[in-house]
Amino acid sequence: MRYGKSKKILVTGGAGFLGSHLCERLVEQGHEVLCVDNFFTGTRRNITHLLGGSKFELLRHDVTHPLFVEVDEIYNLACPASPVHYQFDPVQTTKTSVIGAINMLGLAKRVKAKILQASTSEVYGDPEVHPQTEEYWGRVNPIGFRSCYDEGKRCAETLFFDYRRQHGLGVKVVRIFNTYGPRMHPNDGRVVSNFVVQALRGEDITVYGEGLQTRSFCYVDDLVEGFLRMMETGPDVTGPINIGNPAEFTIRSLAETVIELVGSRSKIVSRPLPPDDPKQRRPDITMAHKVLGWAPQVALEDGLKKTIAYFDGFLSAEKEVSL
Ligand code: NAD
Ligand code: UDP
Repeated sequence: MRYGKSKKILVTGGAGFLGSHLCERLVEQGHEVLCVDNFFTGTRRNITHLLGGSKFELLRHDVTHPLFVEVDEIYNLACPASPVHYQFDPVQTTKTSVIGAINMLGLAKRVKAKILQASTSEVYGDPEVHPQTEEYWGRVNPIGFRSCYDEGKRCAETLFFDYRRQHGLGVKVVRIFNTYGPRMHPNDGRVVSNFVVQALRGEDITVYGEGLQTRSFCYVDDLVEGFLRMMETGPDVTGPINIGNPAEFTIRSLAETVIELVGSRSKIVSRPLPPDDPKQRRPDITMAHKVLGWAPQVALEDGLKKTIAYFDGFLSAEKEVSL
């Protein structure tokens, strides 16, 4: 079902943070985009600017139920991504990853669509191998608070590769490392949105533990570029492939950078470290570079400035409404 170069593309979780940026890029490229979302963490606000356009369609739907549509490509992003949200209803989180993957793979099989899975660096758990390469099998607690997300995503990867082996599906698995940018949920508890919102409000910056744990932060535009390049690859390229920014920072240094960029009077305070919080994380992106010719372009400070500008506007608008 191709109309020239224009394709019909399904994005599940399209009203979320990453999904909304992906939908935007696909529409810009002239594709017809079907955004499917149950609005658990996503909002219409993220995609308001796309609504009404002839290339964009929105469907409220939960991916744990089968979906019957005709599409050429599927990006499967539906799943809450922040610990606060995915631990709110952990059984639903596992269902979304596992049953959602089965439903979307079944759809891909029926309509012979390529399908890309938004997997995660969480499949590596609290890693003993650093930086993490795709060959590393991970160290994941199967019964902890993060397990609904980590094991759900691991099982989804298993399903993707079994559908390929059993049914010859064109699958692509991308392992996303911490990604940030405009349209993150202001209350989702992830570190970049938390710190930026706290700094803008002049509130204490809550560093969990001593803040010596590390993460590597990828700006959303870089991530979306990696997704698009992955989907364009031929049938032999399945991944899993790491997409992330290998520049690694301690959480405390992130807090200091945010305070400085905002020019905030916020103080850093310590809060208990959540259970199973990975101590370090950094992607090895050799494969993404070799296979996709991809490398991140946006430095942390530049991405943070854009994110701060977004939240500044967001909080000002919120203040006006409450006046
Ligand atoms: P998000 O919470 O903003 O987006 C997830 C979207 O999925 C939301 O719009 C939500 O309403 C929707 N959703 C949740 N359950 C659903 C269901 N059952 N049916 C339909 N829609 C449902 O999170 P995000 O950061 O945009 O993450 C998108 C994807 O990328 C997720 O699969 C996540 O696991 C993955 N990922 C993100 C990051 C990151 O740093 N942002 C890192 C690793 C993996
Ligand atoms: N974190 C923190 N303060 C916050 C939110 C998060 O110190 O207000 C820490 C958290 O403990 C973790 C890191 O920041 O070590 C990244 O957390 P996030 O939830 O963004 O992502 P994940 O742990 O899933 O990588």
